[in-house]
Order: sequence, then structure tokens, then C-alpha cells
Amino acid sequence: KLAGKNSWRIYQAEQDISRDMVQTMQWSRRIQQALENELFVLHFQGVYHTHSNRVSHYEALIRMREAPDVELVAPAHFINIAEQSGQILAIDRWVLSHSILTLATRPDIPAIAVNLSGRSLDDTGLTDYILELLTHNQIDHARLMFEITETAALSDLQDAQRTIQALRQMGCSVSLDDFGTGFASFAYLKYLDADVLKIDGLFIRNLCEEPDNRVFIKAIVDVAHGLGKKTVAECVETAEIHMLLQELGVDMMQGYFLHKPAPLV
Ligand code: C2E
Ligand code: MG
Ligand code: MG
Ligand code: MG
Repeated sequence: KLAGKNSWRIYQAEQDISRDMVQTMQWSRRIQQALENELFVLHFQGVYHTHSNRVSHYEALIRMREAPDVELVAPAHFINIAEQSGQILAIDRWVLSHSILTLATRPDIPAIAVNLSGRSLDDTGLTDYILELLTHNQIDHARLMFEITETAALSDLQDAQRTIQALRQMGCSVSLDDFGTGFASFAYLKYLDADVLKIDGLFIRNLCEEPDNRVFIKAIVDVAHGLGKKTVAECVETAEIHMLLQELGVDMMQGYFLHKPAPLV
């Protein structure tokens, strides 16, 4: 106070920064413990074919179990920190190996889609790691799918392009996740040759109130189909939205209306 208003503001900012740093370090330590003590859990959410209403595949979604009777920690709390610290590489590999083990023990499950962080796109050993797991467990490669966010793909176009190509050559399919929010022009689809465009929930959740979103979705569907790709809508929460998306020609749907993420039964 004696030094005046400006110095007070600076002091405040420094305090904020160090508080953030402490929190990041604490989370990073919790992630490390979760990796070492098998405290991660996978939930699975069905993705359904629009016309037949049958399950196309399940998306694997990670959670952290900190104690037996405590609510699971959502990925929003730790994925960003794991990306900053580099721990996401170990997390992505953990999710991969557990998804492949699930495919091996559950032949009734058509396929599992795994989310890959942007950091994993330059993990050069990743494709060999995947191939070895698939071969060892004798899994049909088409049963393993990948989701890469549009934003991650754009931030390193060359790595994304190389990874997508390698995974598809292996016989796995690739979706561009959260599509439509990453400021990609449609021209990028030439370089990011994925099988599926997964339309971000931002366009889906308020579809009934925002007529403009129909225009965006229709455009994405047209471009996808013109290029021989499929579309998925995420965050389908109501019957009304499901019907609108069906009219717009979206090929597959995922959301609380159909199936909430849960352990496999
Ligand atoms: P995402 O890949 O776009 O996953 C979809 C998110 O939307 C999931 O949140 C899912 O639970 C949620 N969701 C599904 N249906 C609905 C719905 O009808 N309404 C609403 N409001 N939400 C719905 P979740 O599980 O919290 O995951 C958040 C994000 O964290 C994921 O977004 C993904 O980017 C990331 N993530 C999750 N698991 C993994 C993982 O194993 N590895 C990596 N690298 N990232 C992951
Ligand atoms: Mg996803
Ligand atoms: Mg998504
Ligand atoms: Mg999303």
C-alpha cells in the first residue's frame, strides 16, 4: 500500500503465478501416482450408426480414481497439465494398451476409439508400439480407431499428416475430433486425410435454438461426403436434436441421449 497502486498489482500477479505453479506441480504429482499405482480408469461411450441405431464402436474416455469411494476425476482436470509436463505420452500409451486388452478379452465389442494427444503425434515410437500390441493380442487392426483433435492436428500439420497416414496404412481408422472449432479451412482436409469428421459438440448442443448451426453442420456433412468421409456428431443430448441431425445426413451419433460414458458391462 505504501508503494502505491502499481506495485500492489504486480505483487498480486506474482502471487497468482506462484499459486498456479504450485497447483500444476501438485496435479503433476497426482498424475505420476496414478500412472505408478494403476489409478486410471477407462469409461466407454457408444457411437451409434444413425440409420440402424446399432453401435459402430465405443470411445475410450479416461478418468482418475484417487480413492476407493470418491468420485472419479474428469480428464478436464488433468489432461492439459499432463500435456504441459509430457506425462500425456505415458497416459496415451496406457489408454492404448488397456483398450487393446479390452478388445482382446471382449470379441463382442466391434471397435474402440482412442483419443491421441497432440503431443503423441511426434512420439515416433508410437506406431511400432501399437503394431506390437495388436500383433501380440491378435487383434484385427480395423477394431482400433483413433481420434485426433483438429486443433492438435493444425498445430503440427506435418506430424499429424504423417501419423494419420501411418495409422490408416496399418488399417486403423482416424477421426478429426472437435471438428469445426480449430480454425481449419476446408483446404486443410487435403493434408489431414482422416476417415471421419467428428463435429464438435459446440454446434450440436444448442442446435434447436441456433438455426445457423444447421448451416455449418450441413456444410461439414457435404464436404465430408464429397471427400468420401463419414461424420459423427458428439453431445447429442435430446431426441429432437437426434432427429435434426438425421435430417442433416450425419452418419453416426454419440451423446447422453444414446449412452453415457460408463464402464463396460
Ligand atoms: P472428446 O474426445 O471430445 O470427448 C467427448 C467428451 O464429451 C467426453 O468428456 C464425454 O464424456 C462428453 N460427452 C459425451 N456425450 C455428451 C453429451 O451428450 N453432452 C455433453 N455435455 N458431454 C458429452 P470427457 O470424458 O470429460 O473428456 C473430455 C476430453 O478429454 C475429451 O474430449 C478428450 O479430448 C480428452 N480425453 C478424454 N479421455 C482421453 C484420453 O484417454 N486421452 C487423451 N489424450 N485425451 C482424452
Ligand atoms: Mg474424442
Ligand atoms: Mg470430441
Ligand atoms: Mg469435444
